[in-house]
Amino acid sequence: NLILSFETSCDETSVAVIKNGSEILSNIVATQIKSHQRFGGVVPEVASRHHIEQITGCVEDALARASVTYDDLDAVAVTYGPGLVGALLIGVTAAKTIAWAHGLPLVPVNHIAGHIYGARLVKPIEFPAMALVVSGGHTELVYMPEEGKFEIIGETRDDAAGEAYDKIGRVLSINYPAGKEVDELAHQGKDTFNFPRAMDDDSNFDFSFSGLKSAFINTVHHADQIHESLSREDLAASFQQAVVDVLADKTKRALREFPVNQLILAGGVAANRGLRERLTDELTAFKDTELVLVPLSLCGDNAAMIGSAGEMLYRQGVRADATLNADPSLEFDLMNK
Ligand code: ATP
Ligand code: MG
Ligand code: FE
Repeated sequence: NLILSFETSCDETSVAVIKNGSEILSNIVATQIKSHQRFGGVVPEVASRHHIEQITGCVEDALARASVTYDDLDAVAVTYGPGLVGALLIGVTAAKTIAWAHGLPLVPVNHIAGHIYGARLVKPIEFPAMALVVSGGHTELVYMPEEGKFEIIGETRDDAAGEAYDKIGRVLSINYPAGKEVDELAHQGKDTFNFPRAMDDDSNFDFSFSGLKSAFINTVHHADQIHESLSREDLAASFQQAVVDVLADKTKRALREFPVNQLILAGGVAANRGLRERLTDELTAFKDTELVLVPLSLCGDNAAMIGSAGEMLYRQGVRADATLNADPSLEFDLMNK
């Protein structure tokens, strides 16, 4: 089957054509990062306007690059949450319009399910599976006993991992989004600051990154006041080591309690080199669990992953009608039947 998929939850306008849920025929991503950089973060109104300007061209490019027409399609899939409401609405409206105009079924997709199903573009997901989702807005351990079922067993109590990267990046005068550059700096430094690893020893699967962020910011501000200059590389390395330690420890604990066939690392922060290396190391101790890393090109927001999750939901009979609305705080439970 062929699915035309839409992703507009944040600052990427993306449209893809996916074959059988696993083969990318096209994946057009128009990023708006430059427009948001001077504000130090995503400005919702600016995002919506860009989506409106980009979406039609993205649809045309996606169809052309895949060499298909509307008549070849079996369904339209779209992210309807979570995300920025005004941004989501552009994708939802475009998808609804195309589905209605061409008599195609409309499949609503949860953005986080999309991040996880990015793994399916590498190899089939084998259940039960666990996903560590680390992104700009989420840090979650998601247990998937079977296809289409998502159980959040742990999540952040405050900041998401990506959000923490972006906030400490600002203190290091790194442009938004800072994750990639902090990751690069970290590889040139050493963990000399020993920042706190919050909740690392707690017997749950939850995370907290605001204490780490505050410790980082206080360290830099204190040094500024006494005109001491700290190594940016060591600061970045110390921050990253604290993040990776907690993510790896909690994931190991989750894998011991929920034995799975695959561990999927997904979300924007899944592009982190330190995290990918660490999980690769740690997973050698879990002989029955295969590590599936979403490829770097598909870690950030894109419509290919939405088409992949959308195809699974399409086969399960999940449909939306013309009343489909954006749901900025959409949760997983709504998808579980
Ligand atoms: P969500 O998916 O939770 O709705 P989002 O879609 O805004 O949020 P993504 O686009 O999935 O988030 O991820 C963007 C985040 O990934 C940013 O915070 C960015 O700094 C971070 N990021 C990207 N590359 C890296 C990296 N190499 N190391 C750490 N963080 C990274
Ligand atoms: Mg983004
Ligand atoms: Fe995302």
